[in-house]
Amino acid sequence: MTAADWNSPLHALRGHLDVPANKARTRHAAIEVAPVPALLRLPLSLYGRRRAEPCVSVGQHVQRGDIVARGAAALDAAVHATTSGSIRAVAEAPLPCIELEADGDDAAADPEPLPDWRERSRPELLTRLAEAGLTGLGGAGFPSAAKLAAAAGIELLIINAAECEPMLTADERLLTERAGEVMDGISILAHLTSARQVVIAIEDDKPEAIAAVRAALEDHPFRLAVIPRRYPSGSERQLVQILTGREIRSGRLPVDLGILCHNAASARAVSRAVIHGEALTERIVTVTGAALLRPGNLSVRLGTPVGDLLTARGLDQTRLAGIRLGGPLTGRTVTDLREPVGKTHAGLLAAGLEELAPAGTELPCIRCGACAEVCPASLLPQELHRQARAADLDALMALNLQDCIECGACAWVCPSRIPLVEDYRLGKAALAAEAARQAAAEHARMRHERRQRRLEEERRATESAREARLSRVDAALARAKAARHDRQPGS
Ligand code: SF4
Ligand code: SF4
Repeated sequence: MTAADWNSPLHALRGHLDVPANKARTRHAAIEVAPVPALLRLPLSLYGRRRAEPCVSVGQHVQRGDIVARGAAALDAAVHATTSGSIRAVAEAPLPCIELEADGDDAAADPEPLPDWRERSRPELLTRLAEAGLTGLGGAGFPSAAKLAAAAGIELLIINAAECEPMLTADERLLTERAGEVMDGISILAHLTSARQVVIAIEDDKPEAIAAVRAALEDHPFRLAVIPRRYPSGSERQLVQILTGREIRSGRLPVDLGILCHNAASARAVSRAVIHGEALTERIVTVTGAALLRPGNLSVRLGTPVGDLLTARGLDQTRLAGIRLGGPLTGRTVTDLREPVGKTHAGLLAAGLEELAPAGTELPCIRCGACAEVCPASLLPQELHRQARAADLDALMALNLQDCIECGACAWVCPSRIPLVEDYRLGKAALAAEAARQAAAEHARMRHERRQRRLEEERRATESAREARLSRVDAALARAKAARHDRQPGS
């Protein structure tokens, strides 16, 4: 242990999966630059169910780094052109996106660096991150600026470099080759959050990256925690538990405990956005799998179609069992090769049979309990599966489906080959749709009540105006009568 090492005891994960790391193919492959494709698809979907609205028109010429779409909220991450070219269309398939036809020049907008970032205000820096299109690059893709806005004066900033997912080595190579840039980004994050302590967590099977981080730490007050390789140690809640022993209860976030987690690649993107003034237009992706002739770690332009990337690295159809965006456990099966690489995709797999969860005909659940044993979130996966199939939303809520981190450990061990995570994703989508329906109904009810109140107030105002008018008429009649009486002879 050196002076810079994390000096608190590490804690064990509740449930975990022993799965081979399977990283040898790309672990030592230096980062290469992927070719810019002829046509890019810039996704419009933002965090959750929201989407950005285009602010360019078809035919318009753009440069790399120009904003092409924005969300409605001030701290939403903007969407950028990732090369120069002309806008071909706003499309809905294979997903809502802006199609950008590259002109081959790859001309970039002038960067606006902020080398004096320490002198800049917090709102100015947060706006810079939102304008540069920053989202978390390791998980759900929450906008970085919004996450940081809610995290001032925290106890602990955790930089997540665990990269526990098998086959993925993008963060490992980033730290090995560009630790200095990651440290610069961490310095900015520490400044923005006023964090009392900063720790970089990395699994113990990455000696090169650990050595690079140790060397870079000499100029910084941050700590390094080398944690045991254990899937899914890189999941936010699990990492907090390993480092602090503290559990994040259902419905709460790390920030409720004064803790913020940020991925290592996101930290580097912060440094590029602030110090170099660059928008997020590329990310490092591990492109690998038994069906790929030239696996590697590639700096890929966001919006590059999966098919272009696989072709560039030599796809062997005879060995291909499945294509996944993300890792073998948490990734998503790709069915349309036009799908683009997005901000949260750390991996693209052209996997052979042996690299995916055991597939085959799904059998009924035999209630063996293997899934519950490996669940790191202490859930009951078989019950969640049953209720998700029954679409019983109340039961899914009661079983805390929202706490499922979609790590895929349960599906990996299931002897009945049940695609459990797919069930959970559908269940979560149904819960989100129900929540949206209830919010809309509540909104309509409040609007109705407001309208009723307004009508009642208008009725009362009309009534009191009528009464006032009648009183004025009565008073006038009384005055007229009194005047007539005064004018009568003898009065
Ligand atoms: S591992 Fe599969 S078969 Fe066993 S209890 Fe869980 S869902 Fe059922
Ligand atoms: S996918 Fe969800 S239910 Fe399955 S093991 Fe992971 S956290 Fe538990």
